[in-house]
Amino acid sequence: MEKFKSKILQKRVLSEYTFVLRLERHNLLFRAGQYIIVELGNESREYSLYSGEKDPYLEILVRRVENGNISRKLDQLSEGDILDVEGPYGFFVINDEEAKEKKLLFMATGTGIAPFRSFVRSFNLLDYQLLHGTRYLTEAYEHKSYHPQKLIFCTSRENGSHFQGRITDYFKTHMKPDANTIYYLCGNSEMIEEMSAHLEDRDIDPFDIRSEEFF
Ligand SMILES: Cc1cc2nc3c(=O)[nH]c(=O)nc-3n(C[C@H](O)[C@H](O)[C@H](O)COP(=O)(O)OP(=O)(O)OC[C@H]3O[C@@H](n4cnc5c(N)ncnc54)[C@H](O)[C@@H]3O)c2cc1C
Repeated sequence: MEKFKSKILQKRVLSEYTFVLRLERHNLLFRAGQYIIVELGNESREYSLYSGEKDPYLEILVRRVENGNISRKLDQLSEGDILDVEGPYGFFVINDEEAKEKKLLFMATGTGIAPFRSFVRSFNLLDYQLLHGTRYLTEAYEHKSYHPQKLIFCTSRENGSHFQGRITDYFKTHMKPDANTIYYLCGNSEMIEEMSAHLEDRDIDPFDIRSEEFF
């Protein structure tokens, strides 16, 4: 595990609450899907890497959480500020052999889309589908990163996306659990628990259900 000081190279504001911080990479080796730990003062938080394995920088996608300690402080930082970074950590990664044999379904709520962007920037993935769920249309975080036919955007509080409702509802009404698919679930625990239970009840092997819980 490496620990280093990393300068903020760029801040991109994606919505009222969400932004991307681009950081110096310092040759950190990581696998798409892994996360780093960012330390500020005496506190630290995990952030999935949003950039790809071959990008010369690191990026994280952060939602400023109301009353959240670290995400609010991160939002106040700007280009040139220095962060303490440690990593990489985590096992939410793609196995090359499996990806050749099976289809991949990525399901993300909110900033849970971060590891999936790292996947698609890192590999030439042909057989994936991404369901991204947010509350509002303005939370379509850089959707141009994904093949338009592979992305289904679900918004729970507005229409105008592909589906009005939660991604779990989209899955239950439009898709069928499939033993030839590996399911990657990332974001809030409610979605992960509901989807895992739904898939396991329909005989999907728990080994084919991978998850990364943000909160
Ligand atoms: C492995 C891992 C990877 C993560 N990757 C990301 C990432 O890529 N981007 C990202 O924004 N966050 C990510 N998180 C969440 C992140 O680590 C922090 O928990 C989050 O930024 C809130 O920290 P805070 O100090 O601002 O809030 P805190 O003061 O720690 O918590 C305030 C409250 O907000 C809740 N909360 C935390 N996150 C959210 C959220 N996104 N939406 C609504 N409520 C929330 C907490 O449950 C808590 O009740 C990840 C967490 C883990 C475990």
